[in-house]
Amino acid sequence: MTDWSEGVQRWIEQGRQMMDERAAHIQRMKQCRFDTLAVHGLYGQQTASQNQGSILEPAYLSPSQHFADSDQMEAALAYQLPAWVYSRIHNPTVGWLEDTLALMETYGSDMEAACCATASGMAAIFMATNPFLAHPEPGMNIVASAQCYGGTFMLFSERYARERGVEIHWVKNPVSLEEWADAIDDKTRFVYGEMPSNPGLAVFDIAGVAELAHAKDIPLIVDSTIATPALMRPLLMGADIVVHSVSKIMAASGMAIAGAVISRPEVVSRHLEDHLRENYALQMKLLPFRDHGPGLSPFNALMVLNDLRALRSRTDQMSRSAMAIARFLEQHPAIEAVGYPGLEAHPSHALARAQMRLVDAEEDDQRYGYLLSFNVRGGAQAARRVMDRLQMIYRATDLGRVKTVATIPAISTHQQQGEAGRDLAGIPANQIRLSAGMEDVRDIIADLKQALETA
Ligand SMILES: *Cc1c(COP(=O)(O)O)cnc(C)c1O
Repeated sequence: MTDWSEGVQRWIEQGRQMMDERAAHIQRMKQCRFDTLAVHGLYGQQTASQNQGSILEPAYLSPSQHFADSDQMEAALAYQLPAWVYSRIHNPTVGWLEDTLALMETYGSDMEAACCATASGMAAIFMATNPFLAHPEPGMNIVASAQCYGGTFMLFSERYARERGVEIHWVKNPVSLEEWADAIDDKTRFVYGEMPSNPGLAVFDIAGVAELAHAKDIPLIVDSTIATPALMRPLLMGADIVVHSVSKIMAASGMAIAGAVISRPEVVSRHLEDHLRENYALQMKLLPFRDHGPGLSPFNALMVLNDLRALRSRTDQMSRSAMAIARFLEQHPAIEAVGYPGLEAHPSHALARAQMRLVDAEEDDQRYGYLLSFNVRGGAQAARRVMDRLQMIYRATDLGRVKTVATIPAISTHQQQGEAGRDLAGIPANQIRLSAGMEDVRDIIADLKQALETA
């Protein structure tokens, strides 16, 4: 133990009191409903009083914190006192976003999660996975669902596999628990799945896969971007770490790119050093994240906070619209197949139904999210013709937006992984991905109808 001077010890003692107050505040907020957490997070009357009475979280754009004296500086830099020090490491505005996300992701339980916000979803996926690949050994591998976001596919196959020699054991059919079990071996560092996946909306049994991973003393990491805590909370189902592209429906108005890593206490891993294992997102933030530097801008954190407050109601409306659009497309003669887990005919409908549900729904109504895909009869050219005829729906590689957008994954988000990579991920050339927005669904369907008329 370090021999702290009396002055430093006083700051450390004050830090303990701050942590006790914070713990009590977390406990109070855990009694509140989801929408209340989304609106307030841990910013309350007391914090407001310390911030000129501002009822909204202020934007702290200052890169650094002034210390009252050198003792406070020493205590803060030794991580012995809650402080933010420098915005690459932490920042008060970013902190309010992290608190809110951690509360939302553990809603309905007494689990206390830790959260680290990042500059993008890809930064979150990198920071959630890279520390597990320290101290490489021959045969070191990761197990991942092939039905994942194009950027994730490239991170794993290009950066990890091609550049660093990490083996990737792709799971082609994530519904099959046997396939996951066969892919995991004694050199596996972590198991990774996206639920539901972008763009195929593939689902998998989170509790079942977590059990397989834990039996080998390794963690399950879940990309829960498409579901968000408004529909599903993987940490409560057995996952160790959840990652989000916060850029999507959490920031539905589209004012910022952001990401988040959220971890349960005591991540299961025989490869991590103890401090990381015990409190992954916090220790990762204090150490490897500090050294890599993928921090979120406080301005962007504020943009996200503004949208996050309406997450549940937006998820509700956008999911209802997606369901209506899926039903319309299902009947349409120009459509070969519709990928939406809300449809009874979807092969994973039952698995999706068991795991996804609108939080705090008044009726026993199921919601399945705002994202769907559909394959146009007549191949790639027919799909392009439909895309090009859309008059209101934007052609953009984006999703979770208040505005409806559509893309052809094979020529956009999943172009760079090549045809073999797309076959592996199950992405046909005639597939259009649609993200339902907040417009009146009748107007969205009217646009699709006219675009499909001469398909
Ligand atoms: C968009 C997305 C990402 C990447 O997030 P960025 O914020 O764009 O870096 C990762 N996973 C999924 C499922 C996504 O949709």
